[in-house]
Amino acid sequence: MHKAMTAFWTEPDFDDHEVVHFVRDAKRGLTAIIALHSTHLGPAAGGTRFWHYAQPGAAMRDALRLSRGMSYKNAMAGLPMGGGKAVILADEDRRKTPEMLAAFGDAVEGLGGKYVTAEDVGISVEDMVAVNQRTEYVSGLPVDEGEAGGNPGPFTALGIYLGIKAAVQHKLGKDSVEGVHVAMQGVGSVGGGVARLLAKDGARLTLTDIDVQGAEALAQELGADTVAPDAIMSVGCDVFSPNALGAILDEEGIARLDCAIVAGGANNQLARPENGATLAGRGILYAPDYVINAGGIISVTMEYLCRRESAPCDINEVRKRIALIPERLTKIWQDSEASGSSPDRVADAMAQELIGRG
Ligand code: NAD
Repeated sequence: MHKAMTAFWTEPDFDDHEVVHFVRDAKRGLTAIIALHSTHLGPAAGGTRFWHYAQPGAAMRDALRLSRGMSYKNAMAGLPMGGGKAVILADEDRRKTPEMLAAFGDAVEGLGGKYVTAEDVGISVEDMVAVNQRTEYVSGLPVDEGEAGGNPGPFTALGIYLGIKAAVQHKLGKDSVEGVHVAMQGVGSVGGGVARLLAKDGARLTLTDIDVQGAEALAQELGADTVAPDAIMSVGCDVFSPNALGAILDEEGIARLDCAIVAGGANNQLARPENGATLAGRGILYAPDYVINAGGIISVTMEYLCRRESAPCDINEVRKRIALIPERLTKIWQDSEASGSSPDRVADAMAQELIGRG
């Protein structure tokens, strides 16, 4: 086999992905990677990221890691979908054109339904509407009031709120979050939603965001405190809730934590696979990210499946499925305690079993 080709299959993030498509439409300005990790449970589903990568290798790593994450997330959420992800490689000016989105839509359509896309970082609902002009294999489109689908942020927030309550019950033995101190990193679409739900229950909140004004306005509305972004991980609290960036739980970050629980929505929170054990070693209960943050994909998938059957989507059905997140987390924590394996490892093993790779 050619040396460059073997190098690809031995990439650390390559995990027996079924197919990885390299898409190029020079005329319409599209360079993209569409990675299908697994279609064992159904069409590979996962959003499209529009991002400027300094090195193309970083785009590849993102596509490989994120698509595997989607396989695990969809399987653990009980959805009949596999895992995939697309990344569109933006230029330095992050120019996005209608032609580029049309070319991307054609590429998705060309996969004949093996991949279903939706929004991710850098892609808006309007962009998805444009992609939908070229392909039906799209979700996260505008929906009518009271129907499932649309912006996944509030559904993701609901799942995280329920997951935090489950963690507080499991680790601290409390049935309510009243008076429980939660330090929140990032109060955007997801973090802001979680903060509002927790505040309603009387939780004590400390917020931060690089959008300092946004965090302060929300803190004022909810009666919360704020700290500078670089101080949030060392705030003494019950729960640290990461809702901004991935890879924040590295050796140094974990050493700074002064909390009993880490539970938040950011994707890929563990910088390296071994960091789950480091957290456990410090006695900190971890809610595996792809389990607790599945509310949005549950909504987006239900929207997609309903649209394919031309049926309106009952929002209560989506809420019912999101309400299962706490028991899934509790099972992971119980198995972790029984086996001595960290919760992230337990969740990975469960997900691998579900996608036929156990
Ligand atoms: P968002 O852009 O609406 O919010 C992210 C917030 O984090 C922004 O307000 C941003 O200013 C802030 N931020 C960025 N860097 C920061 C830093 N260093 N310190 C503090 N704050 C910082 O995005 P979102 O949709 O709320 O997503 C948040 C996280 O949740 C992401 O990791 C995303 O991948 C993940 N996630 C989102 C969804 C969803 O439904 N939106 C679903 C699953 C996972």
